[in-house]
Amino acid sequence: MPRAPTVLVAGAGVVGLATAALLATGRCADRLRVQVLDARPLPRWRAAELDPRVYALSRASQQLLDEVGVWQRVAQLRAAPYRRMRVFQGSDAYAPSALDFDSADIGEPDLGHIVEDALLRTVLADALGATPQAQLAIGAQIESIEVRASEVAVALKDGGSMHASVLLAADGTDSTVRRLLELPTAGHLYRQTALVTHVKSSKSHEETAWQRFLPGGPLALLPLADGGSSVVWSLPTADAERLLAASEGEFLAELAAATAGVIGDLTACSKCVGFPLQALHALRYTAPRVALLGDAAHTVHPLAGQGMNLGLLDAASIAAVLEDALLAGEDIGDLKVLRRYERERKGDNLAMMAVFDGINRLFGLPGWASPLRAFGLGAVEATHPVKRILMQKALGIAAGRKHQVRWSRADRQA
Ligand SMILES: Cc1cc2nc3c(=O)[nH]c(=O)nc-3n(C[C@H](O)[C@H](O)[C@H](O)COP(=O)(O)OP(=O)(O)OC[C@H]3O[C@@H](n4cnc5c(N)ncnc54)[C@H](O)[C@@H]3O)c2cc1C
Repeated sequence: MPRAPTVLVAGAGVVGLATAALLATGRCADRLRVQVLDARPLPRWRAAELDPRVYALSRASQQLLDEVGVWQRVAQLRAAPYRRMRVFQGSDAYAPSALDFDSADIGEPDLGHIVEDALLRTVLADALGATPQAQLAIGAQIESIEVRASEVAVALKDGGSMHASVLLAADGTDSTVRRLLELPTAGHLYRQTALVTHVKSSKSHEETAWQRFLPGGPLALLPLADGGSSVVWSLPTADAERLLAASEGEFLAELAAATAGVIGDLTACSKCVGFPLQALHALRYTAPRVALLGDAAHTVHPLAGQGMNLGLLDAASIAAVLEDALLAGEDIGDLKVLRRYERERKGDNLAMMAVFDGINRLFGLPGWASPLRAFGLGAVEATHPVKRILMQKALGIAAGRKHQVRWSRADRQA
């Protein structure tokens, strides 16, 4: 019997683990071997600790996690729904120009869920551990990559090697795979750093994701299951560095002023972490026997909380493309197969990136642009069909529907 083709996933972040889980539990699970490698140890989620890194997951991302059988566990352990989103500039969150998205307006129970990175990676790694055709290699650092006619060979720093029919690079913004294969990128540094922390407050978050556009960058407050809020505050790097070095009291005072009081007084915060921000896009997502996914292919501004959601759509797309190819008897590492994934995802990712970039620039303009911004927000708020489309886009419904067909287990078995 010929050996089953192997898919090697570089990077055990959420995107890499989700891709591996889709393949290891999908239509072709019995015809594939899936290996995931990561240089660093995986975090292990514990209920007593709140991971500072959280994601606002869209409905499409939730469906993907459901498809691989982990969403119920995520929901049971800790996921906070957000039912409204309020976007504003200036100091009044309820000004006529503020945007209000309410899940009830589109007949949905919520707009998404806030979930910790460590929790997602724990449940996905457990799901992979329970499938005999999947293997995780932790502490494996890639040294070099050799693409051959019928396989790709990866040499590791510890002297070992791995061989596969296709290598999927989900190894993040500074992708080693992308660098070693000299796949070109475009992009720029934002000269902004996102400060991430959790806060406790005197007022309820009202299951609302708050987004205030400040001159230095956007501030997001995301509702957490324990009543606290996750803060993602993008601001000029010099200001961020000053705040990272400030005392908790000084930091909370500046943050409280920036929130415009929407969740009341801030009473405590967890350790604050800074993420330097950049926009990056790989000019090509594919090469013979290699495809880039998630942040390795595109890194976007966190202002709309969509980077992970886009990466999970990549995961759904590449898994479906590889499965279709396998069922059709094609070589899954063939460039013409991988290009189908690139065609499906690159345009969407580029369009989203341009939108987030444009919004960040518009809100970074000086005071003279404020009436223009207020007009723009007010016009969207007053135009219900536009608001509806934006909400569906944020939920991932429009994009998700295309993939739902592929994700549905009933469809797969039909
Ligand atoms: C402040 C902030 C807030 C955000 N909030 C949201 C949000 O609310 N919603 C949302 O959708 N997105 C959000 N994002 C974006 C999101 O964090 C990223 O899009 C997402 O983490 C990308 O996942 P990934 O799996 O592609 O990469 P990563 O999470 O970067 O994982 C890459 C993995 O590859 C491994 N790796 C790296 N190099 C190597 C190597 N040489 N060999 C082996 N392994 C390697 C790493 O150890 C890591 O495990 C936010 C981003 C930031 C900065």
